[in-house]
Amino acid sequence: MGFAPSHEQFDSFREKEGREIDAALTVGETTEEVEAKEVEITYMIGETRIKVVMYEKPGSSLTFFNMHDNEDTAANAARDVVDSQGGRLIELRHTGDRNLDFEIHGEVYTIDPNRMFTDVGAAASLRQKTADYRGMTYKEEALRLIRNFANGFIADFSLASPERTLVAVHNNTDNRYSLKSYQDGGQYESDAELVFSRGGDLDDFFYVTDRAVFDYLKAAGMNVVLQDNSRMTDDGSLSVYCGQNGITYVNAEAQHGHLAQQKRMLEVISSRPQP
Ligand SMILES: [Zn+2]
Repeated sequence: MGFAPSHEQFDSFREKEGREIDAALTVGETTEEVEAKEVEITYMIGETRIKVVMYEKPGSSLTFFNMHDNEDTAANAARDVVDSQGGRLIELRHTGDRNLDFEIHGEVYTIDPNRMFTDVGAAASLRQKTADYRGMTYKEEALRLIRNFANGFIADFSLASPERTLVAVHNNTDNRYSLKSYQDGGQYESDAELVFSRGGDLDDFFYVTDRAVFDYLKAAGMNVVLQDNSRMTDDGSLSVYCGQNGITYVNAEAQHGHLAQQKRMLEVISSRPQP
């Protein structure tokens, strides 16, 4: 069912777009039993280099994924939890901002990287952001290259693998996007199948594609939304891609600066028995 990227597709992408491995280094953690490793990979989208940094330590099959370059609390929380519990953190490093810019033949295009995972969503985000920030219409080549990047990236890091639980880590702004957005009357009410609120700060919440994970987090007393995988809006986000393809996906969303709260959330999801 659905679309699943193959390694053959990525191999052609690599030849065309010139992915390269820049460096692989080991970060010594002398006080720990095992060492954490950090690997940096550079992708090319047109003429723009996108860095992917992977920080990894044995002990857990979780993959934390930080794609918005301005969401540093999320990246720091995940790095700390990899140190204490194992797993891996994958970070996209691009502009330092939320949006990703890339240049093709001297023209700059803009997209929200959490809209690049489906054809429909990527086209819509590229259209809107490129018009808003660049004052121009995007060309088909830009859509093709960003979709190749997204698919190659998913294949390279096995993000669709059932053996690794994918945990996106995000930060939001106080009282804007929150669990409330999915409750009755909220902006995204129709995207949610179930919502559990324990109260407290509703900016700190989980968003998941899998009923068993929803039940686990609810039992653990966490704010959590279960995506309606048959009715959600195709906005190109990773949760939609995972919902369409039957992939277990968790988003741990916390307010900017809520480091302790987000670490606690990541520890809770790490304590779930893994596949
Ligand atoms: Zn984000």
